[in-house]
Amino acid sequence: MIREPMVFVATSDIAGKLRGKAFPAADMDRRMRKGVGWTPTNVQITCFDAIADTPYGALDDLLLIPDPETETRIDFEDGSPVEHLFIGDIFCLDDTPWECCTRSILKTALQRLEDVSGLRLIAAFEHEFQLTGANRPLGDAYSRAGYRENAVFGETLMAALRAAGLVPDTFMKEYGVDQFEVTIAPRPALRAADEAVLLRDITQNVARRLGDRATFTPMRAPEGVGNGVHIHMSLCQSDGTPATYDPNGKHGLSEAAGAFSAGIVRYVDAILALTAPSVLSYHRLTPHRWSAAYNNLGLRDREAALRICPTTGRDSASIASQFNFEYRAADPAASPYLALAALVFAGAQGIRDALPTPEATAEDLSLLDPATLADRGFIRLPQTLLQALDRFDESATVKGWFPGQFQDIYRMHKQGEMAFLADKDETALFAAYETAY
Ligand code: GLU
Ligand code: MG
Repeated sequence: MIREPMVFVATSDIAGKLRGKAFPAADMDRRMRKGVGWTPTNVQITCFDAIADTPYGALDDLLLIPDPETETRIDFEDGSPVEHLFIGDIFCLDDTPWECCTRSILKTALQRLEDVSGLRLIAAFEHEFQLTGANRPLGDAYSRAGYRENAVFGETLMAALRAAGLVPDTFMKEYGVDQFEVTIAPRPALRAADEAVLLRDITQNVARRLGDRATFTPMRAPEGVGNGVHIHMSLCQSDGTPATYDPNGKHGLSEAAGAFSAGIVRYVDAILALTAPSVLSYHRLTPHRWSAAYNNLGLRDREAALRICPTTGRDSASIASQFNFEYRAADPAASPYLALAALVFAGAQGIRDALPTPEATAEDLSLLDPATLADRGFIRLPQTLLQALDRFDESATVKGWFPGQFQDIYRMHKQGEMAFLADKDETALFAAYETAY
């Protein structure tokens, strides 16, 4: 059969979906300059394919332009088309970044961080997902058997990630039924978000090729465990010198890292709608699921919104090179660009306002009575998507971080998503997200 090589240019949108267009590889030069046409209202296509209310209507045009730095080629060497894609940025026809381009929003956030602190962010996204295609036995949490059962998937996934330029770190059979976790090496923040986008796409691709299906839904069943995305972050100077660790700082955090964490802790309830953006995200963000339910910085606590991670370093330099904190209130329904942008804006605000390093907890906050919680400055995080959207709306500071109409459009989008679910019972609700992600 005759075939012509194609290239895909993609954007990760408000729904956290990777969408775009393919063009013949023969047109590469022209497309790298001019991109492909894109439609503003596309951003209101929810994860369920319905179009939410849109201020753009049927009007206007945009360009989705590939970023040459993101070129990705994976040849599975099975005769199928080589996976050849770019991630792009969306521009208005006058060449300015479009207000709802999630990747451009992350770039603005990273610039803000650099402006207020002179520092850059290194990040690594840790992903959990579930393979739904086969009925695997119970009892294989973290097990060798659970790993072996899926070793072909694991090895193909590792090879595909490596071919795409990611550096695989670990692959394991997670605790949940059919649940797996994959970790990759840290990268400069924009590249880390690009790699998170690629990792989800590659994972789904590998599963499909092996006759299985990978779902990144935040929760598969009411009593199940969640699929989290833990976002590891550390700061560095522009020459790459680590800037997160200070042996004399509170909890080992440098002044800048302490203020950055304080910004995240202060604004976590207002940015939650961006990092935990689905209706099911709030089933996951409940106590005792090793996710996050309060606005706390925790010392090695897997239920903290922000956790200071352990290091294996024995001297100050090796501790400094590993020292990082991990945001746990995110899940894979969020675009990595939006989730990370929200964290960076919050952290940069903390640095700008010179917020003091928060006290770190190492206890189960859900056991404290409301008065004690309030006394110590803790709040229960929003418990529904609607509550989270309200917090996002209420904070003038947070609103100011985002361009143009972005915040109103985000809310309309999420209202469209919720409207689609309005008449669904619990089973249909979980099934809808499992299919969508
Ligand atoms: N599955 C948990 C979550 O939803 C995380 C478990 C872990 O600590 O790896 O975030
Ligand atoms: Mg895990």
